[in-house]
Amino acid sequence: MTQAPHEARDTPRPPAPGGRRELDLAEARRELRADCGRCVALCCVAPMFVASADFALDKPAGVPCPNLRGDDRCGIHTELRGRGFAGCAVFDCFGAGQRVTALFDGATWREAPEDAAGMFGALEVLRQLHEALWYLREAAHLVPRGPLHDLVDALIGTTEGLAASDAATLADIDTASYRREVGDLLADVSAAVRGPGGRRWAGKDLVGARLRGADLRGAELRGAYALGADLRDADLRRCDLLGVDLRGADLAGARLDGALFLTQPQLEAARGDRRTTLPAGLARPGHWSVDR
Ligand code: SF4
Repeated sequence: MTQAPHEARDTPRPPAPGGRRELDLAEARRELRADCGRCVALCCVAPMFVASADFALDKPAGVPCPNLRGDDRCGIHTELRGRGFAGCAVFDCFGAGQRVTALFDGATWREAPEDAAGMFGALEVLRQLHEALWYLREAAHLVPRGPLHDLVDALIGTTEGLAASDAATLADIDTASYRREVGDLLADVSAAVRGPGGRRWAGKDLVGARLRGADLRGAELRGAYALGADLRDADLRRCDLLGVDLRGADLAGARLDGALFLTQPQLEAARGDRRTTLPAGLARPGHWSVDR
């Protein structure tokens, strides 16, 4: 596989699979993964569902999903996609669920209904903070020591401080302003890592786009709508995929190792196969198991 011309020796690049830095990144993100065993099914109660391709029914916010069992386990866990709950199959709280549960000393919304609104509000804010930490830790991993790295480190510190707040403080956080600050810094990191050149398709409508075999190295696709896009065998190394809607996109054979700001929910929502290469720390979804 050829290298992009601007991939000079000093250009920060993701390390080889299995490298020490990848282990460090995986460790830094360990608490940013959902651990349903330490949560009280907050995501099955707090959000509103709108009947769609992702959810088979309407559900108001704060009302338990009818599939939720009394032991706070999903009654259709092994058949979510087939039963019309693909949205649940791809959802990830980035570890916010277990953190909210700990914040309320393990109390459940069943046992302490007076705290339920506080729990659900904290979940909404902490999920955003944890998702930001997911990206920021990757950013710290990508950029070499220097002013940009210092800015990333500082925002990680700020975010960790906010995430350690009590429920009342969490409720007062201006999440819109915070997300703008994170987004701007990640854009700077992305530009530094991607280098010049590459497609500029941020926010673009790529629904159903035919991009089979496309060279998208160093491209900026953040926020693009790539539902159902044909990305088979595309080369997405150093491609900024932050927030790209990949629902139903075909990633069979695509190169995603070294792709920037990709998350597990994006992979879960897409299709792929055993030939698809992945960034370190992300798992191959079970429904990708068959080569096509
Ligand atoms: S379908 Fe299962 S995972 Fe989805 S909200 Fe209902 S109980 Fe939770």
